[in-house]
Amino acid sequence: MSAGERLIVAVQKKGRLAEGGFDLIKRAGVKLAYGKDELLRKAENVALDLMLIRDDDIPSFVASGACDYGIVGENVLYEAQSRTERLQSLEIVLKLGFARCSLKLAAPKDGPIKTVEDLQGRSIATSYPGLTAKFLAERGVEAEMVEMGGSVEVAPRMGVADAICDLVSTGATLEANGLAAFETVLDSEAVLVRRSNVAPAKADIADLLTERFKGVIASRQTKYILLNAPRDRLEEVRAILPGNDAPTVAPVVGREDVVAVHAVCTEEVFWSTLEKLKSVGARSILVMPIEKMMA
Ligand code: ATP
Ligand code: ZN
Repeated sequence: MSAGERLIVAVQKKGRLAEGGFDLIKRAGVKLAYGKDELLRKAENVALDLMLIRDDDIPSFVASGACDYGIVGENVLYEAQSRTERLQSLEIVLKLGFARCSLKLAAPKDGPIKTVEDLQGRSIATSYPGLTAKFLAERGVEAEMVEMGGSVEVAPRMGVADAICDLVSTGATLEANGLAAFETVLDSEAVLVRRSNVAPAKADIADLLTERFKGVIASRQTKYILLNAPRDRLEEVRAILPGNDAPTVAPVVGREDVVAVHAVCTEEVFWSTLEKLKSVGARSILVMPIEKMMA
């Protein structure tokens, strides 16, 4: 196969997206060859290479054709698209279910800013001026953007801006800086993006990767449940099993009154689910992860 036919996937070199991204790629069965190259990591079992770069560079690297696909946060993607027209052509192939965070507006807890409308004529420190300005414009509010590369949360205290718009996951950083969030601008997670004109010669490997990613994502939230149930309470057990209405029912040797139930559950299985199953007579309940799935 010629070098031109290898699919190039951009992944964050190091950080919160890198962790989830490498895990996903590994679970999709891609084996990375050992290599000294800091920028390009070759896969040894599929026609695919990873390009390791800063997450902020991923949208433009994919759009320019340096890479075919990329794993990036929606926050970074939409911010880049709000600044650069050329990036509008990027397509989201899949939401990947990790690196979840929210872009939020926040202001000093004991200050006068409590709502979006209170931001009229104020200044906002942010690394996401494009997304923030667009959100405010939609609400008819005009404010000044103070662009910062990092440590946005210290801006109000330092007198650099009246409020901030920053990524939040637990809210601990806001709390530690005496800030309170009052509005969500965007809920973000990692997504797989691609440019619209990936070479046809790479279509097979691109499809294979996408299908495997889908399988990994589906199997993450899917569990296999095994239990024994009284034959006459089977309907009640069935009604409790989350996201499955056609379990396999098998006889239990030497027990006419009991059946074994096997079910793939496509929704989360909580402790409370097991307690409900037990309350209708289910016993020996096992919940197991599913390693791989293909529809
Ligand atoms: P670099 O630009 O060097 O690649 P970074 O400092 O932008 O790194 P990270 O802090 O690793 O990178 O964040 C990368 C992405 O992870 C963010 O753009 C966002 O999509 C997501 N993210 C950010 N904060 C959180 C968080 N607290 N929890 C989960 N995901 C987050
Ligand atoms: Zn970054």
